[in-house]
Amino acid sequence: MSSRPTVAVLGTGIMGAPMARNLLAAGFPVRAWNRSAEKAQPLGADGAVVAGSPREACDGAEIVLTMLADADAVLDTAAGALDAVELWVQASTIGLDGTERCAALAAQRGVAFVDAPVLGTKQPAEQGKLVVLASGPDEQRERLAPLFDAVGARTIWLGEAGAGTRLKLVANAWVLSLVEGLAETLVLAEGLGVAPESFLDAIAGGPLDCGYAQLKGKGMIDRSFEPAFPLRLAAKDLRLIEEVADRHDIDVPLLAAISARFAEGVERGNGELDMSATFLTAG
Ligand code: NAP
Repeated sequence: MSSRPTVAVLGTGIMGAPMARNLLAAGFPVRAWNRSAEKAQPLGADGAVVAGSPREACDGAEIVLTMLADADAVLDTAAGALDAVELWVQASTIGLDGTERCAALAAQRGVAFVDAPVLGTKQPAEQGKLVVLASGPDEQRERLAPLFDAVGARTIWLGEAGAGTRLKLVANAWVLSLVEGLAETLVLAEGLGVAPESFLDAIAGGPLDCGYAQLKGKGMIDRSFEPAFPLRLAAKDLRLIEEVADRHDIDVPLLAAISARFAEGVERGNGELDMSATFLTAG
């Protein structure tokens, strides 16, 4: 018998599946569910119990971890399953309003709620190197330390639930500005007859360089857009940023323009590609 609590993982997509695998590797019994069952099934070979419904996944689990696309998916899924657990760790990116709705649902059901969105994408998720932005009741910190250590390289505790989500939106504002800026920089280079590789080479190793520019820039130049973070989810995050900025009366015209651009990328049918495919909208 494991001394670790059983964790129900609801949502085993790009992020949820590797997080579940890392929990299993750290000795947590995992009960996994995914709407499209074929994405949860392979976790059986890693030792997870694959459940046929969110409720079945949560029955017999102490903790539920949600890693689903958006707030509606999280709320719909959790609503039918929450009563069976003591603690809900909400790791999807669902914005401030979504997080508040989840906290209210948890309070209604007498379940402790920790808001824990993550920084990092597919590869850091696979390597257990996410950064967890945790916020919620202090008494859950010790209990959750082994769980967060299993999926992340670092956990930052930030205060009351909602604080993690606020920092996540701030961090995504930065990442998504960088990606759009990079896409347009490379489109400008190509349009001017400048080899885009020569731009990446010119900044390499200096103060203007960043690992993300080299990584995503190479993908854009090669037209290689295998999804680590799908464009449709990045567009969703930009909408969440716009919503929160609006709610707090914060002027962010550049982010609004990027949001419109990403929405256009989804309309053009590029939503399932990596977010770096915003390059195709600019090009
Ligand atoms: P993903 O691979 O698209 O997974 C999304 C999951 O949500 C799938 O399990 C999907 O089920 C499920 N889902 C969607 N709509 C649903 C509904 N109405 N009811 C039930 N389940 C539903 O996305 P991901 O990259 O793992 O992202 C998950 C969350 O983490 C998102 O909030 C995302 O913004 C956030 N995030 C992603 C990254 C990243 O780099 N990928 C990084 C940090 C945070 P199906 O398989 O049936 O479609």
